[in-house]
Amino acid sequence: MIRKGSDYIESISKNPPVTYYEGEVVSDVVNHPAFRIPVKTVASYYDLHWKVDGLRVYNRDVGEETSISLVRPRSKEDLLKLGEGLVKIYEFYRGFFGRSPDYMNLWTMVFFAHAEDYFGKHFGSRFMENAMEIYRESTRKDHFYTHAIVAPMYDRSRPPSQWEDPYIQIGITEERPEGVVVRGAAMICTAGPYAEMLWYLPNMRRDSDPRYALYFSIPTTTKGVRFIARRGFQPREGGEFEYPISSRWDEADAILVLDNVLVPWDRIIFFKKPELIEDLMWHTVGLRGWFNWHFMIQHYTRLKFLAGLAMTITEAAGTSTFINVQEKIGEILLYVALNEAALYGSVARAQELPNIVRPDPYISISASHFNMKAVPRANEILRLISAGSSIPIPAGAKDFTNPEERAYLEKYMAMKGFDALERVKTFNLLWDVIGSEVGMRYEQYDRFSRGDPTIRWAQTYTEVFRDRRNEFVKLVKEILDQMPNPKA
Ligand SMILES: Cc1cc2nc3c(=O)[nH]c(=O)nc-3n(C[C@H](O)[C@H](O)[C@H](O)COP(=O)(O)OP(=O)(O)OC[C@H]3O[C@@H](n4cnc5c(N)ncnc54)[C@H](O)[C@@H]3O)c2cc1C
Repeated sequence: MIRKGSDYIESISKNPPVTYYEGEVVSDVVNHPAFRIPVKTVASYYDLHWKVDGLRVYNRDVGEETSISLVRPRSKEDLLKLGEGLVKIYEFYRGFFGRSPDYMNLWTMVFFAHAEDYFGKHFGSRFMENAMEIYRESTRKDHFYTHAIVAPMYDRSRPPSQWEDPYIQIGITEERPEGVVVRGAAMICTAGPYAEMLWYLPNMRRDSDPRYALYFSIPTTTKGVRFIARRGFQPREGGEFEYPISSRWDEADAILVLDNVLVPWDRIIFFKKPELIEDLMWHTVGLRGWFNWHFMIQHYTRLKFLAGLAMTITEAAGTSTFINVQEKIGEILLYVALNEAALYGSVARAQELPNIVRPDPYISISASHFNMKAVPRANEILRLISAGSSIPIPAGAKDFTNPEERAYLEKYMAMKGFDALERVKTFNLLWDVIGSEVGMRYEQYDRFSRGDPTIRWAQTYTEVFRDRRNEFVKLVKEILDQMPNPKA
């Protein structure tokens, strides 16, 4: 089934998770200033499915229509439809709002596709059934999932099992007939305060202690689940004129706390075999390829938007005639074109497995890693080409309501290609990308949401292309072998 926005609003207002905000437990998440905007945006995601073609699709795995983000691709055509569906969703967000429901839907779908050859094979039929049933539940209920992976930053020089309290990272404290009890925290958990379900899946590379080796899905309202929300970056009420991005796509981030939470056995899909994580991430399941593909699509649509913004501003200001400005806009367009090529290339060279067709991981992971630097660079370009003129913008919409002031604005805020109002609206949009709290939070997200860029770029060499090393080195070796070997 596919919900409407009003179904989600009703569900989250009746059953909100426990979220602390400024010392109080949030009672009305739908109208709370810090969550009002993302709740509305999530609702609009559901409504989008009823407005845009290609997002509601017959899902043969469950025999009814679901969001395309839950449909398992069985052919390259299916994969292309999925990619283009995600592009439609992210064009709606202009590449912002990375933690939209479709993101975790994709993970749940991929776990389902590999229920047998991964979860069943390694963990047994019970866990295989769990992966399948959690997916079926998602297709039936169309719930919004958040997720959390990373342990709090207590001491990164030691693994969490060696910390003074080994249960700062979420770990198993007890096994019972009805499930396992877990305790600890994880950050960042974007969307936790307004999500209905949680996937918890730790990074086992940081610590292979089996007590941490647990993937599970539970409702965010489960006893003992708590979210501690960061300060809201939302604009003041009615800030749509001054903050067009923040007022649409502000996401809320939180710390997830699991205070002795009982996780029933039927909600667990990965249990106490940390060494099997590599197979999940890189091989049988190839999760890394999948989530980076989603990131690539998010950032592809963002780069298109940033290119449009750069053109709009410089063409109105007459600066698009300068070669140095053209070079910079050209640079953003190169990133757009490379991402477009990556999207279609990753489908053309998709891996056709018996249970799923998945995007080429060399392409999707590399493109996503590339964007960790390309998107912040595009923001930097916007800063460079708008220069100091990005700053002196009148305080707000009310400036245009004073006739005397408006006369000055009409004269001195106008640009060659814009009247004053167009100019101010465009520069408010610009500032919300390059300067506001939401803009800065997104830049941090663009760099770090897949982990540290240095480590990820290194991994392109040490892991992603490892099995293709000889293909490249051979090209050099052949010439070396053909070169004469002078004798002394
Ligand atoms: C806005 C935002 C939203 C996010 N939302 C989510 C979410 O919803 N769910 C989720 O699971 N994750 C989310 N993430 C990602 C995640 O929570 C972390 O931010 C990310 O994995 C980086 O981890 P960290 O902050 O602990 O930094 P670390 O990885 O600890 O890095 C901190 C610094 O230390 C250095 N460093 C750390 N370890 C090493 C090492 N071994 N070798 C060399 N250098 C090292 C890094 O270079 C970096 O400069 C989000 C991130 C952001 C920014």
